[in-house]
Amino acid sequence: MNSTTPQLSALEELQKALNLLEKQTLPMPTRASLSTAKRHLQQLRNALQRDPEASRLAALYRVSQSLGVSLDLDEVLTQVMDAVIQLTGAERGFLMLIERESGELSLRAARNIQQENLQQEDMKVSRTVIQSVIESGQGIVTTNAQNDPRFAGQESVIFYALRSVMCAPLRARGNIIGVIYVDNRAQAGIFGDEDLKLLNAFAGQAAVAIENAQLYTQTDRALADRVAELETLSRIDQDLNAQLDLDRVVELTRQWAIRVTQATRGWVAVCDDEGELYIAASPPGETPPELEPLLTAANQADPVPRQLTASQGTPAYCMVPLIHNRQTIGAVIVAHPQGIRESAQQFLKRLADRAAAAVQNARLYEAVEAANEAKSQFVSIVTHELRIPLTSIKGYNDLIRQGVVGEINEQQANFLDVIGSNVERMSRLISDLSDISRIERGKLRLEFAHFPLHERVEETINSLRHKLEEKSQTITTEIPPSLPKVYADPSRVVQVLTNLVSNAWKYTPQGGKIHIRAYPENGKVRIEVRDTGIGISEEDQARLFTQFFRSESPAVREQTGWGLGLNVTRRLVEVMGGEIGFESKLGEGSTFWFTLPTSTPSAHQAHED
Ligand code: ADP
Repeated sequence: MNSTTPQLSALEELQKALNLLEKQTLPMPTRASLSTAKRHLQQLRNALQRDPEASRLAALYRVSQSLGVSLDLDEVLTQVMDAVIQLTGAERGFLMLIERESGELSLRAARNIQQENLQQEDMKVSRTVIQSVIESGQGIVTTNAQNDPRFAGQESVIFYALRSVMCAPLRARGNIIGVIYVDNRAQAGIFGDEDLKLLNAFAGQAAVAIENAQLYTQTDRALADRVAELETLSRIDQDLNAQLDLDRVVELTRQWAIRVTQATRGWVAVCDDEGELYIAASPPGETPPELEPLLTAANQADPVPRQLTASQGTPAYCMVPLIHNRQTIGAVIVAHPQGIRESAQQFLKRLADRAAAAVQNARLYEAVEAANEAKSQFVSIVTHELRIPLTSIKGYNDLIRQGVVGEINEQQANFLDVIGSNVERMSRLISDLSDISRIERGKLRLEFAHFPLHERVEETINSLRHKLEEKSQTITTEIPPSLPKVYADPSRVVQVLTNLVSNAWKYTPQGGKIHIRAYPENGKVRIEVRDTGIGISEEDQARLFTQFFRSESPAVREQTGWGLGLNVTRRLVEVMGGEIGFESKLGEGSTFWFTLPTSTPSAHQAHED
């Protein structure tokens, strides 16, 4: 045992000096004297070590103080070992812990008196001593193992020439978690019963410190695992949420399922319209194996992972159903020759929760797309069917109005004008609806060309001049002759301009001003239509460009319109490769602007079908 007395410190110093000397090449007689001196020194230390109990407790208190400060297991183990050697004065010390999972004893720290780590091969210890300490839960001390009837016959004792051995159990909360073993191979009589008491007392405290560090490490690792899992789940969410295509969603789910479970293969099944599960994603180029029993189990909408154990030469399968609103909408299945670990199954379940939401979204999106497609098709058929009778009504109306079938009076002429303007309204509605449906179905034919913009602006103004004059509105233009030609469909550009100028005309009171300006901007041409009209409230601005939107304001409602013009205009500008926007202030006026490309980017050609 060690203590704080100056004599002992001096002896320690002396012992270190002798150890150093021993490493030198010395003549035989000197070496013999050195060995005798060391022995005496040790005896002297032993004598000194038989100090009163108080001094032992003081030493114990001192070394125990450092324990419990650190929660790093390796650091705690080294601290314990150094303290043990310091307390017992042993030549070597070993600390072994019982592994939680395997129950086996493993060497965790080994130190010698010079506070150096020992290697595994230095571990020449008495297994019998250790085993009996673990079995009995009692510490053991032997002053000379070679002569001790309990161990003398043991192979390790003889083979490693063990003499002074002391071993104490590490007991925390009633359980033995390992042992501390110290020895001095060369010399007998180093340790006594008092030393064992001390070691036992110290081992009790050390065990608590070790267990705390173990628990902390465990919690720390569990936390790190959980954080890693959450990170993975968040990446899965990002991946899955970025997709609305069902095929992509099921394939991504399949790939993630393999990754998180470290499976060798994986499949994803989804329900068809009849509620029957079918395999929607499987390893490339492979016919799915017989997964019927798992799919039947999936239909029970029970979120617990199911295992199908491996028979000879086949992998074990694990299935988790994809459940939405308590109904099975699919299943994830993975396979591994050795089966899927419990923790991986739980991870798979969490993946399945996310995949279920993504699959459901993708299916809803598909349904919406299908409904949209059906609507577009319906509109396309109806507008086509309406166009023919409307053309005929318009033709006959014009003929009658021109007096081709006989004289008409003023009242009849008025009635015919009403019919004419309503037919025109209907035609505009049909034409807008059919444009929207064509754009939605990618069936709009565009005739792209390079052309100067001012001609089309003139054409638009001329077609509306009559209406503008009726409201005494002035229209001005500002188009520099140097303006680059635009690359777009000229008739569609006229349609866009007509919509914007018509709106300016409609929503600007008598005597107002409309200004059309065009200028180059960022390699495109920007066209603005500014009016001094009623303006648009902030609330209405948010809904502009949506289908059938018309402001509730009476100034708007007294004008005819369907609320489709701006929606068609935006779609047309976008398919021609431009952008559209506006600025407006209620009561002051509005400026609608759009851009058109000047060059021929390949993106525009895609619309030329
Ligand atoms: P419509 O003119 O047939 O109602 P639009 O789609 O062309 O349909 O316009 C939608 C709505 O946007 C209009 O009903 C009106 O409320 C508002 N709006 C459009 N252009 C202007 C404008 N120049 N000034 C004020 N409000 C406008």
